[in-house]
Amino acid sequence: QPRRILRALLSVSDKSGLVEFARELARHGVELVSTGGTKAALAAAGLAVRDVADLTGFPEMMDGRIKTLHPKVHGGLLAIRDNAEHAGAMAQHGIAPIDLLVVNLYPFEATVAKGAPFDECIENIDIGGPAMVRAAAKNHADVTVVVEAQDYAAVLAEMDAHAGATTLALRKKLAAKAYGRTAAYDAAISGWFAETLKEPTPDYRALGGKLIQTMRYGENPHQVAAFYRSPEVRFGVATARQVQGKQLSYNNINDTDAAFECVAEFDPKRTAACAIIKHANPCGVAEADTLVEAYRKALICDQDSAYGGIVAVNRTLDAEAARMITGIFTEVIIAPDATDEAIEIVRAKKNLRLMLAGGLPDPRAPGVTMRTVAGGFLMQSRDNAVVDDLEFKVVSKRAPTAAELADLKFAFRVAKHVKSNAVVYVRDRATVGVGAGQMSRVDSAAIAVRKAEAAARFLDLPEPLTKGSVVASDAFYPFPDALLVSIRAGATAVVQPGGSIRDEEVIKAADDHDVAMVLTGVRHFRH
Ligand code: 5GP
Repeated sequence: QPRRILRALLSVSDKSGLVEFARELARHGVELVSTGGTKAALAAAGLAVRDVADLTGFPEMMDGRIKTLHPKVHGGLLAIRDNAEHAGAMAQHGIAPIDLLVVNLYPFEATVAKGAPFDECIENIDIGGPAMVRAAAKNHADVTVVVEAQDYAAVLAEMDAHAGATTLALRKKLAAKAYGRTAAYDAAISGWFAETLKEPTPDYRALGGKLIQTMRYGENPHQVAAFYRSPEVRFGVATARQVQGKQLSYNNINDTDAAFECVAEFDPKRTAACAIIKHANPCGVAEADTLVEAYRKALICDQDSAYGGIVAVNRTLDAEAARMITGIFTEVIIAPDATDEAIEIVRAKKNLRLMLAGGLPDPRAPGVTMRTVAGGFLMQSRDNAVVDDLEFKVVSKRAPTAAELADLKFAFRVAKHVKSNAVVYVRDRATVGVGAGQMSRVDSAAIAVRKAEAAARFLDLPEPLTKGSVVASDAFYPFPDALLVSIRAGATAVVQPGGSIRDEEVIKAADDHDVAMVLTGVRHFRH
């Protein structure tokens, strides 16, 4: 039988087509009842709409978990209209019939698809929505249920044709569709749950970690991976808020951490610093008075490698820096904070991830690093030695000038964050050549020079910036050979831990070329 629609409950997450539909319902004299967000949308369009809280006598509560879960709602949906007992119960409890239910559910599937963290997915499991949909669909003899904006037109067509009523045939069709939707919804939830339980190995929750996200894959596509937050109290990539951009991959997180730990070596009260990272190694690090200047200097070091890089800054990201950084393809930006204007600028790059950590990781913090080996794992305390705590002992005949010393300190700070063997050339508190991850220190020293030569050609400079630079080595020079490569390239001062049995020979090589040498006594191997 046709059923005249007198009252509609509208509660939709996807509000497309809502206002137009509700306006037509109002034209048919239908009373509109809505939950918070839906009501706001309708009221904003100038429609008369009643708050469901007014109908139930209960406010929305618990972050919206409880909005419509109330006998006045479910009674209004489930009561069989021509059943005397049901009618009596309605009268006794002041339950008003709801003839049309318009619901689309919290966007659970979309939330999962965008890679949201576990808790956000859980919060996007709609409870009241499916409950109402199932109730209304069960009572399709009296109630029309719509779960998709696509069906608004069909309902209006019938109401127009049947003096504000729908036919049983349509209500049945819509009920079948409604159960299809709730079934698919629950299937999506159970599928996602099962997926999250498929723990990647090893499960670091045993170490007190809290799962932040599972990744599509690990370092390579055939590897599974997950990201955990440890109980450690330290600002960093694991505590950062992702303001925008695609989901972070395993390599993104690893590189972002490397970038942020590197700039954290630079006290933001003293200087603005910027690091650009590729494959966990810096391809440019610089400090300056402003972030934009630091970024510009860092970029010059190795523009080719900076493409698709990860950028970290040690101060609040400002608009000027954001504008320049977004000028080239960048995967991730991490900063302690950002101005509203900077966030707006980054927003123009939809995929670019912006991570705001709230502070810098403390380079002096204790803690552990770990890696697995076949059949076991290695744990060690963090390399928390920082340049400001080290004694720079001059061992050469010539002492470094004040400018050289500042650059030597800069270079050693950076060398700590370069994979061994690390050789880092610095000029004016910016890297001008980075040699990383070579099996021979001579190769690292030479590769960095080659990169500086390439940069000079690219920038049309008369000579590579390694001319007149200083150089840092993450570990001692076993022979003078690698140092001689740097001296030939124009380095005028060098910092290294010292401690080789050939230290004397190495120091002599420096003295022979009037090169200043300082020893730190601390090695920064990084593998
Ligand atoms: P609104 O934007 O109107 O505030 O919320 C609409 C959404 O809330 C719809 O997706 C609807 O399915 C959902 N919803 C309605 N009632 C409840 C409830 O009691 N609990 C929960 N978790 N969701 C509800």
